[in-house]
Amino acid sequence: MIAGPCSAESPEQLEGLFRALAPLGVHLFRAGIWKPRTRPGSFEGMGEIALGWLQELKKEFSMPVAVEVGEPKHVDLALKYGVDVIWIGARTTVNPFLVQQLADALRGTPVPVMVKNPVNPDLNLWLGAIERFEQAAISDLAAIHRGFSLYHNPTQYRNTPHWSVPVELKRIRPDLPLFHDPSHIAGKRDKIAELAQKAMDMGFDGLMIETHDDPDNALSDGPCMLPVNQLADLIRRAQDVRSALT
Ligand code: PEP
Ligand code: MN
Repeated sequence: MIAGPCSAESPEQLEGLFRALAPLGVHLFRAGIWKPRTRPGSFEGMGEIALGWLQELKKEFSMPVAVEVGEPKHVDLALKYGVDVIWIGARTTVNPFLVQQLADALRGTPVPVMVKNPVNPDLNLWLGAIERFEQAAISDLAAIHRGFSLYHNPTQYRNTPHWSVPVELKRIRPDLPLFHDPSHIAGKRDKIAELAQKAMDMGFDGLMIETHDDPDNALSDGPCMLPVNQLADLIRRAQDVRSALT
């Protein structure tokens, strides 16, 4: 279970969330430091200063942290501040030049990398990004399914899940842990639990869910972040079919 805010906003916000998530059994704390916004003018993240906050809090609460990197400079800073896991965002996975630069920046480091699907439903682009990290000797890799954007979206979600794409990825690469991110698919808070349960029923290996102490006043992705009490409910109610069957 990976959880945390869309964006790191302040040391107080992060501390409150670490305090709330630690007893829920969350394994990895996520927070966006540099936000890839579709259009300029939105909140673009706190940047380096927030890496310092995360470094302090991860020690205090003994919870590892994950951030998104979008350019080699982000990789250097994330490594400098002891980030435990790095993820590649959907808008980065689409760009093989950038993915190669990130893979080169990470070459020779033991840090695990999670690769989100590209915004368009192109399995080869997703696989290609994963392979670029493998070729840079990054052996601890995972994939994250966060849905696909469509111009005429017939679904009730912000991004269509296109479940067949992650299923095919799992068929081709059963060795690769596959996570589900219902927050960026749902776009709305009330759809998150059903997506998370479906992913678990389908045998996904884990979940990445956005949460916030005050989602309605968040600086990014407020509508799709769960308040902490709703995340706690989701974790309590979630049924792991595999453990129920064994
Ligand atoms: C995020 O995880 O906050 C994010 C920007 O996600 P995505 O790359 O899936 O849009
Ligand atoms: Mn987000």
